[in-house]
Amino acid sequence: MKRLRITGGTVVTLGPDNRVLPGHDVLVEGDRITAIEPSKQRTSAGETPIDARGKVILPGFINAHMHFYSTFVRGLGKAAPSKNFVEVLRNLWWRLDRKLSLEDCRYSALVAGIDAIRHGTTTLIDHHASPGAVRGSLDAVASAVGEAGLRASLCYEVSDRDGAAVAEDGLAENAAFLDRVADAPDGRLHGLFGLHAAFTVGDKTLDKAVELARSRGAGFHIHVAEDLADQQHSQETHGLRVVERLRRHGVLGPSTICAHCVHVDGAEMDALVATDTMVVHNPQSNMNNAVGVADLFALLGKGVLCGLGTDAMTTNMLEEVRSALWLHHLNCKNPSVGFVEVLSLLLRNNQRITDRLFPGQLGELAVGRKADLVLIDYVPPTEFSGNTFLGHVAFGLSQAAVDTTIVDGEVLMQGKRLLHLDEERIAARARELSAALWERF
Ligand SMILES: [Zn+2]
Repeated sequence: MKRLRITGGTVVTLGPDNRVLPGHDVLVEGDRITAIEPSKQRTSAGETPIDARGKVILPGFINAHMHFYSTFVRGLGKAAPSKNFVEVLRNLWWRLDRKLSLEDCRYSALVAGIDAIRHGTTTLIDHHASPGAVRGSLDAVASAVGEAGLRASLCYEVSDRDGAAVAEDGLAENAAFLDRVADAPDGRLHGLFGLHAAFTVGDKTLDKAVELARSRGAGFHIHVAEDLADQQHSQETHGLRVVERLRRHGVLGPSTICAHCVHVDGAEMDALVATDTMVVHNPQSNMNNAVGVADLFALLGKGVLCGLGTDAMTTNMLEEVRSALWLHHLNCKNPSVGFVEVLSLLLRNNQRITDRLFPGQLGELAVGRKADLVLIDYVPPTEFSGNTFLGHVAFGLSQAAVDTTIVDGEVLMQGKRLLHLDEERIAARARELSAALWERF
């Protein structure tokens, strides 16, 4: 069995009892952490050393809401300017996703995967759409995740917006992928049942999705009340608020992720708590689309499990969590509000979310957990301890370079060099594919 000894770093365990341990080694055997101990400053026979002096060793970061498929939009200038969120969807995303080929899906995910490795993000909960190439798209994304060496939960976002046949394909694609993951368990892949959003999924499709997901024991991954338009549509069309409609149809539950929840009221928050449904906050996306600010503190105050995602704005979770801090400071006009709560979205709650998808395996440096680790160049200029750690995350570690990224004990990047992926080749092919996609757009 392959053994790594990561030597002489400052270990930050995260988890429920976060500990900061200067001058420690992490021993990895196979895909697991087998010891965290004061540094021996030498390796034993059969151990491959990784020098972590001058570095902080953390669990790999988790991105709880992502869209790999959006990668090729970078620099696309052809979309008409949009005045609101629904126009953003109509003018840009729904025009783009319809034109994606299976190879586009694969390379979009590969490029995003390289970014993720470079930023130490080792697990991504993705939400995929390619209405012109639905069947096989999750396999295409999964093959890229596998090639990158990352860990991911995948789903296809079912929608009625492209007609009944595409909706049927979306249902079948989710079911097929869930079956594939169940039949051939791959510790790095997980499936959820994807739904785009309540306002593009009619009752018939919703009920079919619930039946398919239930029979497979799967939770859902859906955009909820991202914009006020979702609520308006739900009340006009169904006479119900979004969360209530989803609850009545059986979408909510402890394995379901509701992304955004910007425009949910107190009763909807109560329904999220009562069903133990997960919520993922995406501050940079909400700011970019000008949809509003989620009432994060009310959600947390009621006891909703809220994590942090990027909605494909970045794969850099430290950038995202900093943005969340500033957003809520400004929104509350209070520079002291929610420092611990907001940082905990990433540092604690994302682990609690992945504990429901990959039970007991991720988000914490502890013996027996998966060896998903990141080494960040960081020599603390002030006291670095459990008491001061959050300040270092916000103002120091988030500004430092990720040096090494490890998933399942496999070193994906070391010394800022990708060990398995040929970035030049992947980017060159991505430029060809994106140019052709922009032609079709
Ligand atoms: Zn999203």
